[in-house]
Amino acid sequence: MLKPIDRGGLLLPGLQLWFDPRKRKPFAVVSHAHGDHVANHDCYLATPETIALIRVRNGNALASRAKALPYGEVYQGQGYRLKFYPAGHVLGSAMAHVETDSGETFLYTGDFKTRKGLSAEAIDIPQADTIVMETTFGRSDYVFPDFEETCQRIHAFCDRATAEKKTPVLLAYSLGKAQELMKIVESRSQALMVYKTIAPLNQVYASFGVSMPQTRPLDFLNMSESLIVMPPSVLKKLPRKDCLVAMVSGWGMNDSAKYRYGVDEVIPLSDHADYPDLLRFVDAVKPKAVYTTHGYEKEFAATLRQRGYEAWSLSGDDQLELTL
Ligand SMILES: [Zn+2]
Repeated sequence: MLKPIDRGGLLLPGLQLWFDPRKRKPFAVVSHAHGDHVANHDCYLATPETIALIRVRNGNALASRAKALPYGEVYQGQGYRLKFYPAGHVLGSAMAHVETDSGETFLYTGDFKTRKGLSAEAIDIPQADTIVMETTFGRSDYVFPDFEETCQRIHAFCDRATAEKKTPVLLAYSLGKAQELMKIVESRSQALMVYKTIAPLNQVYASFGVSMPQTRPLDFLNMSESLIVMPPSVLKKLPRKDCLVAMVSGWGMNDSAKYRYGVDEVIPLSDHADYPDLLRFVDAVKPKAVYTTHGYEKEFAATLRQRGYEAWSLSGDDQLELTL
């Protein structure tokens, strides 16, 4: 069986194939355009959507070293065939499915979400013998509310701000979460003001057929009558007394999170799978072996073993514990 290892990114040693390595490699697979998955590689495979996002965020030089692989097309490597499937996480996010010449199959998920959103492609789950999967929310208390319920909370928050004569401010990461939020609030009457890192990414979404609402550049001195979407990193610039601020994050499952983030509300909208979705995902892939990574990786691997799967965290600490 293919045995993946963690070497600052995932390596399939038999095939010398890297997935989302954090340091520069001669050749790698890049699952999506979030910064912790992109490095300055000599050459890399990515979807055309991801390459367009990298062009905006990282520049032309890195984007020009990509080999574009659209979803469903085959890349023929040395001893394997690789295909991308939509991961449902952000625009262009891909799960990489590898089939070796000897017929073994392997799936690397990168970040993924199984619920259908408004801005990323819907996930398409293939079957595989071995999975390496992200388990950010792999603990049983992470069960996100229905999407509709979350949308209603976002609208109720904006209504509350208006009633208190304050500007509603939604804090969201610039790539993915911000676009999803804008799609949710686009029917509202307020003008949408967004931080400068967000607008160019909206254009990429639009160029791939995701219609995005009109926005204006965020002006911290003139925000009245507007609805603000900006990343949490610029919160310090905000004139707080005139604003009602909500952090939009899957980590906001309990109310104490608002004190941790120093905001008025936390709304649990995530671009990752929650615990029940992670379990359903594994059942859909029907793997012989599962390796977990990120977040509650040990806890989720233990849960899978209780359910009869051969499952380990990629860091391997749990395997060590069992041999002690
Ligand atoms: Zn991501």
